[in-house]
Amino acid sequence: MPQVLDQQSVQTRNLIGGDWVGAASGEEFDILDPATDEIIARVPRCGRSETRDAIDAAAKAFPEWSRTTAQERGKLLRRLYELMMRDQDRLAELMTREQGKPLAEAKGEVAYGASFLEWAADEGRRMYGETIPANFPDKRILVLRQPVGVTACITPWNFPIAMITRKLGPALACGNTMVVKPAEDTPLSAIAVAELAVEAGFPPGVFNIVTGNPKEIGEELFANPAVRKISFTGSTEVGKMLIKQSAQNVTRLSLELGGHAPFIVFDDADVDAAVKGAIASKYRNMGQTCICANRFYVQDGVYDAFASKLADEVNRMKVGRGLEDGVQVGPLINDAAVEKVEKHVADATSKGGRVRTGGERISVDGLADRFYAPTVIDDFTPEMLINTEETFGPVAPLRRFAKEEEAIAWANDSIYGLASYFYTRDASRIMRVAEALEYGIIGANDGGPSTAQAPFGGIKQSGYGREGGKYVMDEYTEIKYVSWQL
Ligand code: NAP
Repeated sequence: MPQVLDQQSVQTRNLIGGDWVGAASGEEFDILDPATDEIIARVPRCGRSETRDAIDAAAKAFPEWSRTTAQERGKLLRRLYELMMRDQDRLAELMTREQGKPLAEAKGEVAYGASFLEWAADEGRRMYGETIPANFPDKRILVLRQPVGVTACITPWNFPIAMITRKLGPALACGNTMVVKPAEDTPLSAIAVAELAVEAGFPPGVFNIVTGNPKEIGEELFANPAVRKISFTGSTEVGKMLIKQSAQNVTRLSLELGGHAPFIVFDDADVDAAVKGAIASKYRNMGQTCICANRFYVQDGVYDAFASKLADEVNRMKVGRGLEDGVQVGPLINDAAVEKVEKHVADATSKGGRVRTGGERISVDGLADRFYAPTVIDDFTPEMLINTEETFGPVAPLRRFAKEEEAIAWANDSIYGLASYFYTRDASRIMRVAEALEYGIIGANDGGPSTAQAPFGGIKQSGYGREGGKYVMDEYTEIKYVSWQL
């Protein structure tokens, strides 16, 4: 079994203004391996004062950093991308230890996370301005794009690196500085990226990291007028609280919140491709992603074939510790996560749902009691909790439908609007359904739509703002115009 963690070899402190520091109080908190309950490290429990220090450091670094050229910033971002890829295996092991996801997925996340830096390194050079024809011959109108200033991000545990780099890359490429607050469950991967940023040569204060008390850190970020922009990825519940806090200083916000993705399989779909897409979308990261399919609508003609092929695939999935070879389903992040999945399954079965496969915890070789069998449930109905709440676990509930309009209406009947999926071979239906679905991301015959060059983000209560592609650059720049009387 690979060993990555001894406290001497893994950085655990916070990076503030180029210095590695602990909490002023000296307090720390434990980081657990969710597969074993082993304490793998302790990191600083910082709060308001350390956050203020980090903001001060970012503000001090901003004037010089914002005056560097896009090429210089791009060079450093590309260097950080290369260092992450150089250390892909080490970072992946670290991530699996603190988060639980299978090693192959963790490696994929390191590469995916690094790709946002590579993309931003190039995209920063295309921050074009504009000239607009004026109403008078002796006037000129120039549109300028400038960095926002000090930015901050608050990120979740399910993608400990990628949720940071997809904010950090564009923020830094546009000339901003950043304070990062990673999730308490998974700060080690984030700190490891900060360490590589130092090696890459980013000047002190450009990238700062603060771990600890979420409420205190968040309150300081929103109360401090030096912070001009905050990007948050996490639950809709916390996102709504942050919207209120942002009113104090009218701080700009981007919100990547919860999702509840529908997955529609039409009669004319390639059923094998749909099953493959369902496995990718539903069971990746043990079902703990914001774009995981949470409701499956399958048309009458292919329902039986799809359900039995999906169950066959699911039965073949290897459950175990993420560091072990071939494991596809690791532990859930914590006990509350397993209890929520159990609650959803018990609720579904009490309301007529039938467990086709799975439907219970699995005990694995004396490891922590946090493994849940990949599950398929037939006949789910709108009355079930699973129809409205994010399950965040490896459970696929299926429902039959007869008509396209019916499936679209059910799919859109949600407060969320992040990702949605459908499978069909009919080209005109692809456009029609894509336009009808009220979701920011549409996987048309595609169970894995995320990529650095596309504008990831949601509508309705899944948030606002976009991350990825050229669109994310708008989140990290101010547009200003000069009306020039000659
Ligand atoms: P969460 O509880 O909302 O936490 C997200 C982050 O917010 C963590 O860093 C957390 O800190 C912090 N936080 C919690 N309370 C806070 C407060 N009062 N003030 C400031 N920060 C606070 O979400 P989660 O359970 O980590 O992540 C799962 C959720 O994220 C799901 O709903 C999922 O759909 C969503 N998600 C969305 C996307 C997307 O792109 N739309 C991507 C991934 C995940 P602590 O960890 O220290 O508590």
